[in-house]
Formats: sequence, structure tokens, C-alpha cells
Amino acid sequence: MATRRPFFCGNWKLNGTIAESLALATDVRNGVATLRGADVVVAPSFTALHAVAKRLEDGAVAIAAQNCHFEDKGAFTGEVSASQLADVGCKYVILGHSERRQLFGELDAAVNLKARAALRAGLAPIICVGETLAERDAGETLGRIQAQLDAAIADIADADLSRCLVAYEPVWAIGTGRTASPAQAQEVHAHIRASVARRSAGVAASLRILYGGSMKPDNVRALMAEADVDGGLVGGASLQAESFARMVKEGS
Ligand code: PEP
Repeated sequence: MATRRPFFCGNWKLNGTIAESLALATDVRNGVATLRGADVVVAPSFTALHAVAKRLEDGAVAIAAQNCHFEDKGAFTGEVSASQLADVGCKYVILGHSERRQLFGELDAAVNLKARAALRAGLAPIICVGETLAERDAGETLGRIQAQLDAAIADIADADLSRCLVAYEPVWAIGTGRTASPAQAQEVHAHIRASVARRSAGVAASLRILYGGSMKPDNVRALMAEADVDGGLVGGASLQAESFARMVKEGS
């Protein structure tokens, strides 16, 4: 049975000047300095990526971007490519976040193109999937997750899939203060792992599946106690270094 190292990523969303992001990054670095049991990542806004990457250079905290474009270069005004993100020091990129899907019309097919572009650029994609409350109430949760996952990882070879992470983020739990129960999270995480196992048992065993949706220091332990919950993608609670560091500590 594979042991999966816990993984926590703070998604700072559209928050922070460069100075504010540097201060938060420094506090996160210091807050987790003595913790050795988890991979810790922060995802600042594009404008702060370079400065934060420099500040955290050679340390244990890695950098993620919150999105990328699927083309490497060209006439795509306003977009940022995966190779540009690698160039500023990112190791990861969050893809298919529900805010991208819901507010910016991002489709499953685009998530797949972006994941493939990220892998080509040497980045590890953190692929987000999640159902709305209406889908959950209609009993469509697992079908929705399956469809998003299948589309996102289509045409990605097993060797590349082994570099990806998946984040289960029920849309009704993001930024709402409402968390999926550990059992609800486990049901979906187990479904994701079983689905990947049908392609490759080895990849599935080592795949890190994160939970996201109002994860906090006081609920992380119960979520992490579930067999298939390997970490967190954390929004609100990652904007305070102390609570993010406490979450990493509680969850690793
Ligand atoms: C997120 O945006 O990925 C997220 C999980 O947000 P929050 O923790 O605030 O619910």
C-alpha cells in the first residue's frame, strides 16, 4: 500500500499586493519551518508570483499558479502560459477551479488542454473537480465527478498522470463555511481513486487527492483521517499564515 505524503496548497485567489503577498509568504514559510510531514504550497496571484518565488527560493514551500493558458505562446492577449509559469518558479498549477468554471465559463475540454500544457512545461497540475448543490441534491455527484475527471485526464499518459494531483472541491462548500463531512469527502475521493485504478493501479495508489471547501484547522484532522483524503486545497483559511500553518500541522 502506497504511503502518500500529505499535501496542502493555499489558494490566495484574487488577493494581495506584492508587499502583502511577500509578507504572507514569509509568515507561511516561518510558520511551517519545523513541520516536516507535508508538502506545502502557496498559490499567489500572477502579479506576485515572481516576487514570492524569489522569497521562497530554496525553501520547503513551493509555488503554484491559479490558472494557465493551454498554448505555449502566440496571439492570446491577457493569457499566461504554463512555460511562463515554470519560468517564474512555479512547480504546480491549479486547473479547473470551480470559480474558473462558473465565473469564466471554463469547460472540461479546456481543463484537459491546460493540464497537458502544464505537464509539457514541467508543472504538476492540481485538477479540481466538484459538484454543485443542485447536482448533489439530484443524486448526480459521482456522475458529475466522473465526467469532469474523465475529461480532464483524457489523453494523458500514465507516466504524466502520476505527476498530477486531483482536488475534490464540492462547489457548495467553497467559501461558504459549509464543509463536506469526512464521509461525504471519502465517498468521492474513493470514487476518484477507483476510477484512476481502472487505468493504472500504481498511479491510483500514489495519486494525492486533496479536499477543498472550507477546510480549517478544526476540521482538517477528521478529514485527513479518511483513507483517501491526502491533503487540502485551502482558500479562506490560507490567507492567515497562522491558521494555514496550524492546518498543515494538524493534518500531517
Ligand atoms: C478554494 O477556493 O479552493 C477553497 C477551497 O476555498 P475555501 O477554503 O475558502 O472554501
